[in-house]
Amino acid sequence: SAHTVIVGAGLAGVQTGVALREQKWLGAITVIGAEPHVPYDRPPLSKAVLTGRAENAEFDVDFDALGIELRLGVTVTGLRVRDRAVLTDAGELRYDRLVLATGAEPLTLPGSTDVPGVGLLRTLDDARRLRPVLESGEPVVVVGAGWIGAEFTTAAREAGCPVTVVEAADRPLAGTMPAEVAAPMAAWYAEAGAELRTGVAVRAVHEDPAAKVELADGTVLPASAVVVGIGARPATDWLRGCGVDLASDGSVRVDQQLRTSVPGVYAVGDCASFPSARYGERLLIHHWDNALQGPRAVAAGIAGGDGGQAVPLGGTVYDPVPYFWSEQFGRFVQYVGHHRDGDELLWRGEPGGHSWSVCWLREGRLNALLAVGRPRDLAQGRKLVERGAGLDRELAADPAVPLKKAAVAPP
Ligand code: FAD
Repeated sequence: SAHTVIVGAGLAGVQTGVALREQKWLGAITVIGAEPHVPYDRPPLSKAVLTGRAENAEFDVDFDALGIELRLGVTVTGLRVRDRAVLTDAGELRYDRLVLATGAEPLTLPGSTDVPGVGLLRTLDDARRLRPVLESGEPVVVVGAGWIGAEFTTAAREAGCPVTVVEAADRPLAGTMPAEVAAPMAAWYAEAGAELRTGVAVRAVHEDPAAKVELADGTVLPASAVVVGIGARPATDWLRGCGVDLASDGSVRVDQQLRTSVPGVYAVGDCASFPSARYGERLLIHHWDNALQGPRAVAAGIAGGDGGQAVPLGGTVYDPVPYFWSEQFGRFVQYVGHHRDGDELLWRGEPGGHSWSVCWLREGRLNALLAVGRPRDLAQGRKLVERGAGLDRELAADPAVPLKKAAVAPP
């Protein structure tokens, strides 16, 4: 019978296996994962697993019952598309359908990878290495004030470690949030007792804990450990030269049904970028919800009998409204949509307060929403963004008015 091979045993890979069975794919399924651990979820790594409130975050999936074969601790090294074969460090494997779900790998600080005490936060092993650092209560330096940096800082401050965060840009989340929205979030660092140093790069990291991190302005920071959270890029180096189209950002280029340039080969999750008709651009999303929803579209293509044709019978167009959340500094932060430069900002509540939301409007329509401690705004905003609803600015600016009551027909 036909065999679907899935490369990568993270959320996207595992969910593709599950979705294939849900959609009545009867062929064999093999999931290959480089990590030796039972497949697990990543968001808890910078939250409960880091603080010791949870030991791990294994997926609640019965692989045996679903007839999904796991090959763990096996790394895929290449692909021979003409033979429909994947090459691994444990031999070759034939496939009829192939799903690339290798996720992303964190960027490293140049010259830091061999320095003891310098680490990343992507895997269960990373989180377990960082736990004793938190338990020690000794000073840590965080490089990068992005989502991971903020969540690690939260955990480290909870554990009582002195924390200095070094950010090369002039504000936290510079890659994703405009300055007005990042400003109140910068204040959260100080409120938690962490020192945030923006606009300065790391020049070097050293072995000596007394002079661990040297900044471009000459400052030297002591630290027992350094955590680097400066972004991630698709884990696709192994695909170079195999015939699968990659975009310039390293992502696997897929079409709106998550099919790669090679017939019978799909890609999904953090490793893939897809064309969004909704937003008129190609999206590369590094968030959990995308790795959860994308697999259903892949499974629909495979189980629907794509036969490698241009228009699969059961294919589903994948064009989601992006969603993600973060838990930082005692706050639940959620974002839905996709804002662009030039969108108009509309606040609900005081940005200095404990809970507020901000809406991005384009030509009167709700494009995106960031909710801090206001999950109802998020839930209602999500529906409005999906519908492309307009907003009555006066009503929407009143945080006491439910957001859905501010919806109007799009202008
Ligand atoms: P991954 O989870 O990266 O899984 C890919 C797997 O493939 C990995 O296990 C990798 O080892 C394996 N692999 C790679 N290359 C090969 C190869 N050549 N051969 C075999 N196996 C290979 N998102 C949110 O929306 N909210 C959050 O709060 C949030 N918190 C996060 C916290 C942390 C610490 C991290 C790291 C991420 C967080 N995310 C969060 C992002 C979310 O976890 C990712 O978007 C999601 O894990 C992507 O799933 P994936 O399956 O595409 O990739």
